[in-house]
Amino acid sequence: MSTPQPRLVEVRQNVLKQNDLLARELRGRFREAAVSVVSLVSSPGAGKTAFLEKMLSDLKPQYAVAALVGDLATENDAARLARSGAPVKQITTGTVCHLDATMIQTALEEWNLDELDILFIENVGNLVCPSSYDLGEDLRVVLLSVTEGEDKPLKYPTIFNTADVGIITKMDLAEVVEFDLAAAHDNIQRVRPGMKVFEVSAKTGAGMKEWRQSLLNSEFGLRIAESKTMDSLEFRNPQSEFVNS
Ligand code: MG
Ligand code: ZN
Repeated sequence: MSTPQPRLVEVRQNVLKQNDLLARELRGRFREAAVSVVSLVSSPGAGKTAFLEKMLSDLKPQYAVAALVGDLATENDAARLARSGAPVKQITTGTVCHLDATMIQTALEEWNLDELDILFIENVGNLVCPSSYDLGEDLRVVLLSVTEGEDKPLKYPTIFNTADVGIITKMDLAEVVEFDLAAAHDNIQRVRPGMKVFEVSAKTGAGMKEWRQSLLNSEFGLRIAESKTMDSLEFRNPQSEFVNS
């Protein structure tokens, strides 16, 4: 007689519990180091990396920003993001289709969190399981590109439900692909009532300033109005584009 195996769902709940405990620990470390952590989730190809590259370049003159980026394979996204000059680390997950708190902990081992103002985490492109894994982030941002269907929020409600802010990306293509913007907003509000949603194009920069200002002015509860390293950075970049924009 063999002992009955635990049901798969029980195993999974256990894994999630472990993850939640570690995520809580990470959140405490982030708070202690006064670093704000923003994670990005979306389907593959929604433009997370382009959006993040623009964010890093825009913020870097004034803030100590860094990024972790998850993919099943390749260091391509880390290489792209590193063009901003910010510290970037790729997490390659192999066959795992999401990031978990252990991966974040390991990736941060060599970094001094005290030196950072904002840490971005780009999750693996996937609208399903990233929603279940707390990474200790302060803010979870879900991206939806105009090249996807307007009904994505209805098909994948959980990822929208568990996010704090929405971003509609690739707005420069909206007309060409006849994206129904009103329907997209309606669908997001149906699954996540009251969520603030921004419309941006990382390519043209449209909408990026509004989003950036909301992120920085504590609208979402983050305390990043002033950089820890502001004085020295201001000295080095007195006329930076970001300051004047
Ligand atoms: Mg990417
Ligand atoms: Zn997964």
